[in-house]
Amino acid sequence: MDFFKKNIWHLFYIVVFAGIVLSITMSYTFWQQTFGVQKLKQESIASLYANSTYSILSQYETIFDMLGESLLGDSGYKNIEYTKNRFKQIMQSSPTILGLGVVGQDGNTLVASIDTDVEKLPNILHRKETKDTFLQALGSYRMVLGRTYYHELLGVHVVPLRKAIRDDNAEVLGVVVAAIEAKESFNMGHKNLKTTIYENLIFVREHDSFRQIIFKKITTNDRYDEPVPRELIDSLLERISDKYNLTKDEIKNTQKPFTAVHRKITGEKILLTTSFIDRYQLWVVVESRLEVLMKSFYERLLLVVLSLLLFMVILYILFRQIDRSEGKKKEALRYQAEHDYLTKLNNRHYLSNRFDHKEPLKPFGLMVLNIDDFKNINKNFDHSCGDIALKMFSLRLKEIKKHGDILVRYSGDEFLLVRYDIKKEQMTQLVENVLELLSEPFTIRGLSVVLGISIGAASYPNDGGDFNETKKYADMALQEAKKEKNCYRFFEESIKQKHLRVSMIERELKTALDNDEIYMVYQPQIKSDGTIYGVEALVRWENRLLGFVAPDEFIQIAESTGVMVKLGRYIINRSLKEASEVQKRREAEFRLSINISVKQFKESNFYENLLESIEERGFTKSLLTLEITESLFIENKNEVLSLLGKIRAQGIKISLDDFGTGYSSLSLLRKLPVDELKIDKSFIDDLGHNLDAASIVRLIILISMQLGIGLVAEGVERVEQKDILRGYGCDFYQGYYFSKPLKKDDLLDFLR
Ligand code: C2E
Ligand code: CA
Ligand code: CA
Repeated sequence: MDFFKKNIWHLFYIVVFAGIVLSITMSYTFWQQTFGVQKLKQESIASLYANSTYSILSQYETIFDMLGESLLGDSGYKNIEYTKNRFKQIMQSSPTILGLGVVGQDGNTLVASIDTDVEKLPNILHRKETKDTFLQALGSYRMVLGRTYYHELLGVHVVPLRKAIRDDNAEVLGVVVAAIEAKESFNMGHKNLKTTIYENLIFVREHDSFRQIIFKKITTNDRYDEPVPRELIDSLLERISDKYNLTKDEIKNTQKPFTAVHRKITGEKILLTTSFIDRYQLWVVVESRLEVLMKSFYERLLLVVLSLLLFMVILYILFRQIDRSEGKKKEALRYQAEHDYLTKLNNRHYLSNRFDHKEPLKPFGLMVLNIDDFKNINKNFDHSCGDIALKMFSLRLKEIKKHGDILVRYSGDEFLLVRYDIKKEQMTQLVENVLELLSEPFTIRGLSVVLGISIGAASYPNDGGDFNETKKYADMALQEAKKEKNCYRFFEESIKQKHLRVSMIERELKTALDNDEIYMVYQPQIKSDGTIYGVEALVRWENRLLGFVAPDEFIQIAESTGVMVKLGRYIINRSLKEASEVQKRREAEFRLSINISVKQFKESNFYENLLESIEERGFTKSLLTLEITESLFIENKNEVLSLLGKIRAQGIKISLDDFGTGYSSLSLLRKLPVDELKIDKSFIDDLGHNLDAASIVRLIILISMQLGIGLVAEGVERVEQKDILRGYGCDFYQGYYFSKPLKKDDLLDFLR
C-alpha cells in the first residue's frame, strides 16, 4: 500500500491494464456469441427446413402414390369425368397443388386437371427442361422434383413433381405429374421467423445444382434459371469435409447441418449452413453475410471500447485529483521540512538538500551572519521579544536577497546567505551593505534596539573545495569577527592556519598533563624597599610538536575545551607545593599569587578543593593570593561575591588582575571584595611618554590608597617606570626589571 501511496500512477496503470484485459475478454466473448450463436441459429433453421420439407414432400408422394395406383391400376383415368373430380378433390384439400396430371411412358399426357384437350398438350419428352427429370422419374422409385420455373399464366414459381407408378411387377404404368407453388408449399410460416437470424434461405438441387426454392436472397445472383457453379459447391463440401473430418457421402447421409465460412461468387464472405435431404436430393442452405455479422459485432465492440475509454478518462481524472492532493500534501510537508517556522526562511535541512548532490557547483560567495550577544535580548527582555527581533532581522535580510540567492536561518541567531557568481569586490560591497542595513535600530515593542552583527565570509571555489568546506571557512572567519564583534571578516589562509593551530593545541592539551609537559614558573613581586613581597605563579607548557606554547594562547583553549578544571587543580597543587618547599628551604615568608580562570572558579567544589590542597601542601593560608579578572562578575554576580567572601574569611587575599582594561568603573571598585589591584601592563608601558596613562595610573593608586587596597604594578621593565610609580606611592612591583618568571630552582637562587 505504501508503494502505491508513493506512486499512485502505478496503481492507475494496473487498473488500466486490468480494464484492457477485461475489455479484450469481453470482446472475445462477444465475438464468440456473435458467431457461435449465429451458427447455432442457422443450424437449427437448416434442420427445421430439412425435416419439414422432407415431410411435406413425402406427403405429396403418398397422395400421388394413392392417386396413381387408383387411376393407373384400374385404368380409371379413362373416365375423364371421374378423374377430373378426383383431381379437383385433391387440389381443394391441398391448395398448393396448382395442377395434376397423369402421363404415359411415351411422354403424352393421358389426363390433366386443366380444361384443355390433352392431345394439344406438348409431349414431356420433347422439351429439354422436362425430359431429364421425367426420365429420372421413370427410373426411380422415389418422387422426382423437376426444375422450378416461372408460370406466366399463374404468375408464380412452380415446382414440378413426378412420381412413377408401378404395378406389382415393378413395371411402370405411368407417371403422376403435379405442379406445386414453389414458395407457398414449403412455407412453414417463415415470414414469422426473425429475419435477422439469416439472410438467405434457398434449396439447391444436388442433381444439376439449380436452385429449387429461393425463400430469401442476398444478391441477384440467386436466380432460378442459372445453376450454382459446381466448383463452388465442391469447394464448400471440401471445406466442410475437412472441418468435420467426414467424407462427402457421410455429409449427405448424416442429416445433420454443417456450417462453414464461404466466399460467394460475388466475393462476399458468408457464414453458410447446409443440410442435405437425401430422399429428394436437395441441399437446404442458410446464409448470413459475415459483413453484417461483423457489423453487429463491431457495434458491441465499439460499446466496449467506448466504455473502456470513458472508464479510463474517469479513472485518470480521479487519479490526477488524488495525485494532486497528495502532491499538495507532500509539497506542504516539504515546505515545513525546508523552512523555519519562525522566520519562514529556508532552514538548514534545505541547505543540506541543496548541496548534498554530487553535481558540479557554480561559483558562489557565502556569508554567515551572527547576532552579537543575542542571548542578552532573550535574557533582558523575554523570548517573545527575541522571536520578534529574529523575524524583523530576517525581513531585512530578505530585502537583500536577490533572485537565485539562498537565504537560510542556520540556527538560533545565525543566518547564511549564498550568492552565485559574485566577485570578491562585489562580495565586500554586499557584506558592507548588509552590515549597514542591519545596524539600523529595530523597533521592538516600542523600544529601539540596535543589534550588533558579526559576519564571516568565504567563497567557492577560491576558498573551499565544496559547500561544506566553504561554510567551514566562513565559520572560521565569523569566529575571527566575533572577537571584535559588529564587523566582518573574509576568510584567508592565516585564519585557517590559526584554526589548525588551535585544533592542534586542543588535541595536544588533552595529554599534556599526563605527558608531564606542564610546569610552573614564579615571577617575584618586589616591595618599594627592594625586598621580596611575593611571587606570581605562571604556567608553562612545552609540547613535543608545538614547542613552547604561551599561556595567553592555551589557557583560553583549555577553558573552551573543558580541560581547564583539571589543569587548574594541577596549577594550584604544584604552586602550593613548590612555594612551600622554597619557603622552607630559604626560611623566607613571601606571598604566593595564583591566577584563577573563570571556569576554574565556577567549578562546583572549587572552595573545598582549594582548602584541601592548602592543607595537604602545608601552605600558610594567609600568604595566598588568588588573582581573578573582572569577567568573573559578568554572570551570577551574587554567587561569585558570596564565594569570594568565604575565601577571604579564610584569610586568603583576592587580587583583581589586569585592572583598567575591563569595564568596571572606579566607583564600582568600592563594592568589590578585593584586597589588591594589579595595574595592567599596558598602562605601565606608556608611563614616561604618555601623560594620560600617567594620570590614570596615578588616579588608580590614589583610589586604592583611599580604599585601603594593596597595589601591584605589573610589567615594570625600566628603571624610570619604577621611579615614577614610586613617586605616585605604589607599594609593589612586578616586571622584567626585577626578574623574569623563574623556575623553582632559579627562584631559590634568586632568593639567596
Ligand atoms: P597575567 O596574569 O597578567 O600575567 C603576567 C604576564 O606578564 C605573564 O605572562 C608575565 O610573564 C608577563 N610579564 C611580567 N613582567 C613582564 C614585563 O616586564 N614585560 C613583559 N613583556 N611581560 C611581563 P605569561 O606568563 O605569558 O602569562 C600570560 C597570561 O596567561 C597571564 O597574564 C595570565 O592571564 C595567564 N596565565 C599564566 N599563567 C596562568 C595560570 O597559572 N593560571 C591561569 N589561570 N592563567 C595563567
Ligand atoms: Ca596574573
Ligand atoms: Ca595581569
